[in-house]
Amino acid sequence: MQKEDQLPRRNLIWPFRKEKNNEKIIEENKESQPSNITRRSILAGALGTVLFVLSRKAFARNFLKISYKVHKSRLLNKKEYSLKIPVHKGLSYYGLAELYTGNQTNGLYIQNFNDNLKLFYGRNQYIYIPVRLLRPILRKVLEENNFARFIIDNEEEDKINNLWDIAVGFMNNSLSVQEKIDILLMLNDEIDPNTKIVYDEQYIIVPDSLIEKRLIDEEIPKPTPAPTIKPIPKIPPTLRKRQNPYRVDISVIKKRLRPRDLFGARRIRSLGRGRYLIRKHTGLDLVSPIGTNLYAVSPGIVTEVYYYKKGQHSLWRNGKTLRYKTDSGLLITYLHLKEYNIKPGQRINLNTLLGKVGITGNADKSNPHVHIQVKKATVIDPYPYVVVDTE
Ligand SMILES: [Zn+2]
Repeated sequence: MQKEDQLPRRNLIWPFRKEKNNEKIIEENKESQPSNITRRSILAGALGTVLFVLSRKAFARNFLKISYKVHKSRLLNKKEYSLKIPVHKGLSYYGLAELYTGNQTNGLYIQNFNDNLKLFYGRNQYIYIPVRLLRPILRKVLEENNFARFIIDNEEEDKINNLWDIAVGFMNNSLSVQEKIDILLMLNDEIDPNTKIVYDEQYIIVPDSLIEKRLIDEEIPKPTPAPTIKPIPKIPPTLRKRQNPYRVDISVIKKRLRPRDLFGARRIRSLGRGRYLIRKHTGLDLVSPIGTNLYAVSPGIVTEVYYYKKGQHSLWRNGKTLRYKTDSGLLITYLHLKEYNIKPGQRINLNTLLGKVGITGNADKSNPHVHIQVKKATVIDPYPYVVVDTE
């Protein structure tokens, strides 16, 4: 929970990434039109009808900073229809050539074509790459002209750290992992091509055709009625070591568990207008109506009881949170509670009512659940500790 002490990283690094007032992202970006070229000159050019079609398509998202333009090189005394791109951080002409054309040896030509412009990273600089040199996968993606945005939604533990995580976890297999990463680098100029690091709440432009659609959350069904809670037989506390948090028959819990509820599940949640939250699940969700009683899975001591609020805490997604340490040393956290009935430092056993299921934080209102996280040295799969009968 030390994360709370840090400033939100996006404020340090992406002050400009606030979303613009929800414009329809299908709207065409006037600036991306090849305004300084006449239709006749395109047709007359060596590039033919393919580019004419491309130019009319004007891959036109307001957030896409690349566009087609005719560029004239004074050095080469040559006009070519080109992709205008912002200068990537840390890439030389050879690196840019490798990324955009798939061939380093184009680097020298591109450098000359841009009149030997010296690349200053971090400045508002653009360079031009002749369209005829572009990699086919990039041209295909631009021609499809259908982009969405992923928004990284890391829970308490950062789990989506770089483009590799996105390419492997949230995109389909129509391209190789390296090609997917390259496409993301080409479309998202603010991502460092060397580290490929991404940040919580960062927007990532992604071709719609490459999204792994099977991961998009289906309509979440209304929670089923409260589980019938079978009272735990009265046995001396010393004999009781483990139970599940609802104190129900284990079959009740198993029956409700869906793949998306499990630890490590990848989730894509549509926000509409081509925006998707992407997340790797760092806990286990036990779905149950608001107000369901919660108990400890094993005796221990309460270490934290806190309400993380939106606008006040970086961990606001957790909502009402309680945490306890079991006698065996596990740190167990319950999130999104409606209320809690315990205090930090309090000794708890299997009979202590800890709190109730709620929808605080970022919990989906139509899908009340307790999010359970189990930590040993790092966060681990809660299943073996949580989906148990009373012993
Ligand atoms: Zn969860």
